[in-house]
Amino acid sequence: MTISEERATVFASLSPATGAVVGEHPVCDEEAVRAAVERARPAGVWWAGLGWRERERRLLAWKSAVVRRLEELGELVRAETGKPFDEAMLESILGVEHLNWAARNARRVLRARRVRTGLATVNQAASVEYQPLGVVGVIGPWNYPVFTPCGSIGYALAAGNAVVFKPSEYTPGVGALLVRAFAEVVPEHPVLQVVTGFGATGAALCRAGVDKIAFTGSTATAKRVLAQCADTLTPVVAECGGKDALIVAADADVRAAASAAVWGAMVNGGQSCVGVERVYAVREVYQEFLGQVAELCRGLRVGDGAEAHYGPITMPGQIDVIAGHIEDALRRGGRAVVGGAESVRAPYVDPVVLTGVPEDSTAMTEETFGPVLVVNEVRDVDEAVRRANGSRYGLGSAVFSGDRAASMRIARRLRTGATSVNSVVSFAAVPALPFGGTADSGFGRVHGADGLREFSRAKSITRQRFAIPLNLTSFQRTPRDMRVALRMVRFLHGR
Ligand code: NDP
Repeated sequence: MTISEERATVFASLSPATGAVVGEHPVCDEEAVRAAVERARPAGVWWAGLGWRERERRLLAWKSAVVRRLEELGELVRAETGKPFDEAMLESILGVEHLNWAARNARRVLRARRVRTGLATVNQAASVEYQPLGVVGVIGPWNYPVFTPCGSIGYALAAGNAVVFKPSEYTPGVGALLVRAFAEVVPEHPVLQVVTGFGATGAALCRAGVDKIAFTGSTATAKRVLAQCADTLTPVVAECGGKDALIVAADADVRAAASAAVWGAMVNGGQSCVGVERVYAVREVYQEFLGQVAELCRGLRVGDGAEAHYGPITMPGQIDVIAGHIEDALRRGGRAVVGGAESVRAPYVDPVVLTGVPEDSTAMTEETFGPVLVVNEVRDVDEAVRRANGSRYGLGSAVFSGDRAASMRIARRLRTGATSVNSVVSFAAVPALPFGGTADSGFGRVHGADGLREFSRAKSITRQRFAIPLNLTSFQRTPRDMRVALRMVRFLHGR
């Protein structure tokens, strides 16, 4: 944060394509954030008290309100991020799918259920239920400003929590619009609020006494968030960056693999957490695959117009990172098949395809977050899996193979939170599937039943139904009680 940012009371979101002001928003300071969290507390109690059915009804009404504003939302996403309108609509549609699933499945996943007791506790009735945490702070990124926060906010609300949402400084308008649409269908209390501002506003949210932080953003910021949450022991779910690999086996449909790899790498200008950044193609298909990738990339149009496949790099600072990765790869012996250093012409970067890049180049070890795809040749699938797993990230991955059983085996061996077979990114679009990473890609899960439980606390209850003659948890216990207990254990577990 610069000194001028620190003193500002309002800030502007800008079009990354033209620099034009899209909107102005307040810079919420520590006091404003604390006030929002304090307002959220009673609102959360009220929301939890509405019960499953009424919450479901309100959340589905919110979903409809968002759909009624889909064009407005898509236009705002386009203006604030620079991505093409259709891509903006696509992420909004996916966000809506998640709101729908979370609303319709919260009761089924989280409601109280009986569990079996053991022989020693046969006189107890046992149940578990998932109760709301209270107030959840959601910190979101700018690259998918609808889809990504919906994957946290929708599930946190469906689980019965109030939410205070800090959108990225690049996409505050999108965050504010989502919250306005929610207030239309839940006008009574501030169950979902937005606090806009810079990183300091997010830091204030971490310190404001919320019951959990759902953070989506870079690994570096996640570490700061964890440190900020340490003092108050505020739990965190961290959805961070990735360096996703795609494996092309010898029996793959090469045309389909090339098309998916190019889309996965270049959509949104490569600014996707689960974007394809590395490809390992086995030697039998490497040349053919590389040729098709190159041809498809040469046909991509980059710019601000309606005909563009992708737009500008949203965050100005990322341009240097992308340029640095290209330069490092070429300096270490990598070869540019499409584009090269000259492809970087801020705020745009034309598609870059590199090959023969050493595994210790930054283009292979760090998240590039730009339209740069590395295609490396490998001997066989085992080498591909080993190299894919060599990353410190572990978010998504993909496998292309014509052999169903073999592709499932490869998918299971990939040390990532999710893998798609014969497509890319599909796991993020299936609302029932948990989404999240390992290692530097973070921990915890959003989406699906696990995503609902992430925003709940498991509450266990036992109720004694009748007294049994075996008196173990009492100072009136007799030596006979212990003898019987030991005999029982030896009989049940000692053979
Ligand atoms: P950043 O880490 O820069 O920012 C993420 C959010 O954290 C922003 O709202 C930011 O606010 C806020 N923030 C910044 N500093 C702090 C702080 N000290 N305390 C609390 N919050 C803070 O990420 P980007 O917005 O650049 O997003 C891109 C990254 O997100 C990529 O690494 C991408 O892979 C990852 N990502 C991960 C996804 C996943 O599901 N795993 C999905 C989408 C993206 P401000 O913007 O105002 O600085």
